[in-house]
Amino acid sequence: MQGKDLLQLAEQFGNPIYVYDAEKIQSQYNRLTKAFSKVDKLRINYAMKALSNVAILQLLREMGSGLDTVSIQEVLLGLHAGYEPEKIFFTPNGVSLEEIEEVAAMGVQINIDNLSILEQFGTKFPNVPVCIRINPHVMAGGNANISVGHIDSKFGISVHQLPHLVRIVENTKMNIVGIHMHTGSDILDIEVFLYAAEILFDVAKNFKNLEFLDFGSGFKVPYKKDDIETDIEELGKKLSKRFNSFCAEYGKELTLIFEPGKFLVSEAGFFLAKVNVVKQTTSTVFAGIDSGFNHLIRPMFYGSQHHIENISHPKGKERFYSVVGYICETDTFANNRKIAEIKEGDILCFRNAGAYCFSMSSNYNSRYKPAEVLWINGEGHLIRAHETFEDLLRNQIPLPIPAASI
Ligand SMILES: *Cc1c(COP(=O)(O)O)cnc(C)c1O
Repeated sequence: MQGKDLLQLAEQFGNPIYVYDAEKIQSQYNRLTKAFSKVDKLRINYAMKALSNVAILQLLREMGSGLDTVSIQEVLLGLHAGYEPEKIFFTPNGVSLEEIEEVAAMGVQINIDNLSILEQFGTKFPNVPVCIRINPHVMAGGNANISVGHIDSKFGISVHQLPHLVRIVENTKMNIVGIHMHTGSDILDIEVFLYAAEILFDVAKNFKNLEFLDFGSGFKVPYKKDDIETDIEELGKKLSKRFNSFCAEYGKELTLIFEPGKFLVSEAGFFLAKVNVVKQTTSTVFAGIDSGFNHLIRPMFYGSQHHIENISHPKGKERFYSVVGYICETDTFANNRKIAEIKEGDILCFRNAGAYCFSMSSNYNSRYKPAEVLWINGEGHLIRAHETFEDLLRNQIPLPIPAASI
């Protein structure tokens, strides 16, 4: 997608808006499947919490993707988007036994990540196929908020609890069909990932009826030029070889599963917002945009550095700006950022706005959430309308008694 296409979409659909490039999602999907083409049974389950618009789910379904879900509502959205229950995985953390039972009854593959629920579920439903989430205690990620495989993490069943895990499975005679791990976001070092995979293989040997091994996700994508990213091709080469040799040892062709979110949609997304005001202070120049952390919270929440371009005047002389929002709290998108000279009314484009951007947006400050547009074959299609005042009032119930009687 080019800057002029984005600018035209901002004019056509109004702003702020999120724009997603279908072609980029497809090329990332193809890149991953190609990297693992040596594995006979490969399956990709899109981690829909990254971006859960139904049109995006449908697009990925067309590509052959399955879904990875973390709540029963995500499962319902997936079914609504046309996924067969068998194509949906449920990988929640800390949800109730009732929710897990409800999802399992829909025919969705459940993934259990603690011994307490495992024992209760296995006792009640020994025949339902279950996948187990293991915590290999490998520090794979760079960001404490999103690194979930380390020793203090709340995710998964610790590998050190393997004896207890095996005992529960033997006692309940439950049907374990898969082993899963998800070490968290931002894998920079493939060797660390391969090391965690070895732990998964070791655990897998204890279960005789496996059908798949799920290696989670956490592939890092570049945020700017020359940024380090996970070398998918190298990982594909090394892990495929090791996976195939494990299957030979195990005596059965297992399915290899990945559940990427960010990798598939991050770079496909653009967030467009208008500059309301340029404010020169004694220390900096602020560019205040028609948005805030109600629409894009990753810079404030994770310290993510989204690349920002002035697509209205891309050729202007570069100056240093602090790009901020309109929320009545500090909401800095970028500090000291070199951007082509900004005039009030210009449209700024934030890169890597596909994953965990719209899906984390809110109505804080009683603002409307942005619209979403999908760009396919050189044309923009609205896939979520701008909100209206009605949306803010939905589900609100006015004061039930006359104010004078209080
Ligand atoms: C969030 C999540 C993912 C996706 O992680 P990305 O970094 O977006 O690829 C995969 N699996 C599970 C279980 C998750 O919770």
